Amino acid sequence: MERTLSIIKPDATRRSITGKINAMIEEAGLSIIAQKRIRLSVSQAEEFYGVHKERPFFKDLVEFITSGPVVVQVLEADNAIPLYRKTMGATNPSEAEEGTIRAAHAESIEANSVHGSDSAENAVIEINFFFDQDEIVG
Ligand code: GDP
Repeated sequence: MERTLSIIKPDATRRSITGKINAMIEEAGLSIIAQKRIRLSVSQAEEFYGVHKERPFFKDLVEFITSGPVVVQVLEADNAIPLYRKTMGATNPSEAEEGTIRAAHAESIEANSVHGSDSAENAVIEINFFFDQDEIVG
């Protein structure tokens, strides 16, 4: 079994569609084995998105992800990392395949409703960023 870090972003919590997104996650065969609703501070967001700090959209991204509550989750399945990336769809919702979370719910390339870890190495780092071991119940 593999684990990945998911974030339901502020555009989705604002529209009260976390339940709809969780249904899509579970229908894809991913188990939600940890979950909490939090508000990221600017410094937490800058650290979490550190790999993007040279990108032109970094400031906007930090502003967006701190603009409201997020739901952080640990998802578990065989091949959870690629499975969740496929379930989310492409970063830009106009390029996301039909049936994906982003095709169904994202508002824009920035306000794209969900985050999912992109590698096994980053999944471990990102899960440990938000969760203690005793908060994860597999
Ligand atoms: P992801 O792995 O599909 O989430 O995509 P990336 O790692 O490339 O980007 C991280 C996040 O930055 C995305 O999910 C978007 O919220 C945001 N983002 C990516 N590209 C752009 C862009 O061109 N403009 C803006 N404003 N935000 C972007």
